[in-house]
Amino acid sequence: MKASDILALVRPNIAALTPYSTARDEYQGALGIFLDANESPYPTGYNRYPDPHQKELKRRIGEIKGVDPARIFIGNGSDEAIDLVFRVFCRPGVDNAVAITPSYGMYKVAAAINDVALREVRLEEDFSLPAERLLAACDTHTRLMFLCSPNNPTGNAFGRDELLALADRFSGMLVVDEAYIDFSSIPSLRTQIAAHPNIIVLQTLSKAWGMAALRVGLAFADPLVISLMSQVKYPYNIGQKTQETVLEALSSPIDARVAEIVSERARVAEALRGMPVVLKLWPSEANFLLVRFPDADAMYEKLLAEGIIVRNRNRVPGCEGCLRITIGTPEENDRLIETLIQSKP
Ligand code: PMP
Repeated sequence: MKASDILALVRPNIAALTPYSTARDEYQGALGIFLDANESPYPTGYNRYPDPHQKELKRRIGEIKGVDPARIFIGNGSDEAIDLVFRVFCRPGVDNAVAITPSYGMYKVAAAINDVALREVRLEEDFSLPAERLLAACDTHTRLMFLCSPNNPTGNAFGRDELLALADRFSGMLVVDEAYIDFSSIPSLRTQIAAHPNIIVLQTLSKAWGMAALRVGLAFADPLVISLMSQVKYPYNIGQKTQETVLEALSSPIDARVAEIVSERARVAEALRGMPVVLKLWPSEANFLLVRFPDADAMYEKLLAEGIIVRNRNRVPGCEGCLRITIGTPEENDRLIETLIQSKP
């Protein structure tokens, strides 16, 4: 798809939108007597509205990610970006979206909130990408396709070439959710958005960067898509304190922590693989393992009784009998392993 084809996919009311213009849009100097935004004049440390465009943060994230700031959207978690792509591209009750399943639950919830039908396509038995079935599920009203890679909760990542080939054959916007990409050996698709303008890459600071409580998600896409998402978002979607805290936190490298999670993932997997209580363990490119037990509900309760909380995926179609276990610190992982060793199948 060419960048000039994107506009035809946008909801007509969004393409025609006159966005809200904030006081901070109209005057951008830093010094002066600010009587323009009905703020309190008394300094509390947060009496002024924040930068609605998060310019400084985008510049820094652009540097770290090697992406032009005009191709970066910053949201209140990537959940905000997921909601916004529905609001920008899908006419409620008319358009539809396609997603893999099992996958991250918010695609379905955001679709339902926006009154958009979500057509879920089961992954292959080995969790690989059902490219032909995904394309077959599309019709002329399909505006979005969601692929999560590495996928939550299955843990596998899809090949870069198969994702690019799918993007080229799809006539809507392909949303690739890379929330767990920092833990993966597969490179991010964010470097491919210029060559493939119908790809929107989602990332988050909630996982490898350790900022889940701050709520910062990222979307990398064509500048037109970024500008549409920015017009639809709430003007001041990222608070001043968050922008400042994130800027500061971005100067501490995460490499050592990510390396420890990745090596712990291998160690925990190795320990689990030999256990009679473990029926199946899938390879993972993320910071969690999907594990099948003879009785997942009983194992969930047993771990809970030991103070270990995991995610029970037993009722998710395709993940029957499975728990999703996040990789913790080496000490936390030791506790998990000890508890599992003591469990009878
Ligand atoms: N995408 C995936 C695949 C996730 O697993 C999650 C959170 N669990 C998110 C997005 C949302 O992340 P956040 O809103 O914290 O950025």
